[in-house]
Amino acid sequence: MGCDGGTIPKRHELVKGPKKVEKVDKNAELAAKWKYCALSQEKLRRPIVACELGRLYNKDAVIEYLLDKSAERPNVEIAAHIRGIKDVKELNLTDNPAWEGDRRNAKGDCYEDMHRAMFICPVVGLEMNGKHKFCYLQTCGCVFSERALREVKTEICHKCGDPFRDEDIVVLNGSKEEQEQLQKTMEERRAKAKAGKKSKKNKGLETVSKPVESEASSESTSTPVNGGGSSSGDSAPGPSGSSKTVKPVAAVGSKRSIQNMEGKSEAYKSIFTTHSSAKRSKDQISNWVTHTPYHF
Ligand SMILES: [Zn+2]
Repeated sequence: MGCDGGTIPKRHELVKGPKKVEKVDKNAELAAKWKYCALSQEKLRRPIVACELGRLYNKDAVIEYLLDKSAERPNVEIAAHIRGIKDVKELNLTDNPAWEGDRRNAKGDCYEDMHRAMFICPVVGLEMNGKHKFCYLQTCGCVFSERALREVKTEICHKCGDPFRDEDIVVLNGSKEEQEQLQKTMEERRAKAKAGKKSKKNKGLETVSKPVESEASSESTSTPVNGGGSSSGDSAPGPSGSSKTVKPVAAVGSKRSIQNMEGKSEAYKSIFTTHSSAKRSKDQISNWVTHTPYHF
């Protein structure tokens, strides 16, 4: 705050200023999203494509990026989720008859230009300038305002007549929450596609990774000893074996200590780190991650 020198800031210095600045920036940023390629930052011009997260790009910028991903560019992280040209969809946009192109810019009429959009919704005529929500259909690439899609319920595209489903609608330049949702949908869809391609391979991987995951996420006292079956058998006489270690994973959620459970045999309890016999030499525990240093 800078009051160390004994200066007394006036109210307007602390409160009023920053708020105003932020508001202007936000508007400009919002408008820019609809006019410039998210990757190259150049003016959007046809062919324009959109990714699964609803960002707008010039197609040539995306192609350039895909051809040489290693080249140094600003903004590369924006396109990190684009693996190939199939991950973007060419948009079928509707020209705004009132758009005068760059001639307006030459006159220096910047304010007017910020709100004038190149494209409009073909159904209700709203301008695509960031003030209204717009969506595109992943099936055909046609772009509509959200109002049109909401008000005129349809299962075929208003513009080209292709059938589509609700999950084919992608919000363009959506809010943070909408983008997070799109990100989630994209990851799910990709995981599904991957699983479909090599389901056999994946099955094997899943069973291996599951116990590791649950172990890392559980920090309760009843954390089971790392599988490794045979090593736990050394210190624990009686029934060891991997089949036993699977059970406690489910018990972790209950947040009760295995050691206090009645009706469990001493041998069963001894396979957990909470048991008194669980103190090990360093080389024995080196293969799993401890959450606290107390085990040493
Ligand atoms: Zn269409």
